[in-house]
Amino acid sequence: MSENKVENNSVPTVEADGKPRTRCPKCLSIRRDKYNRVVKRGIIGVLADGTEYDTVTWRRTKCLSCGQCRIDMFHTIENKPTIPREDINKVWSDLA
Ligand SMILES: [Zn+2]
Repeated sequence: MSENKVENNSVPTVEADGKPRTRCPKCLSIRRDKYNRVVKRGIIGVLADGTEYDTVTWRRTKCLSCGQCRIDMFHTIENKPTIPREDINKVWSDLA
C-alpha cells in the first residue's frame, strides 16, 4: 500500500501508475466520469518496483457503472519544488 494514499471513509485511493485505465475498486468497471478535482504536489520517493518519483498527482473521479467515487493516484518525475512529506495530510481537504 502506498504511503501517498489519501482517503476518508467513503473515497478509496487507486494506484494508477503504468495502467492504461484504472478500475473501480467496488465493481471493477473501467467506465469513469471525467476527472474533476486534481491535486498535484512535489513529493520525492521511490515506488516498490524501484521507480523514483518527485511528483504525486491525485485525480478524483466517479465510477459510471456503480457511482463509487475514487481518487486515482499517479507518481511522476517533473523536477518541480517539493513539499515536506508531513503536508500530505493536507491534500485530502483539497480533494474533498
Ligand atoms: Zn463501480
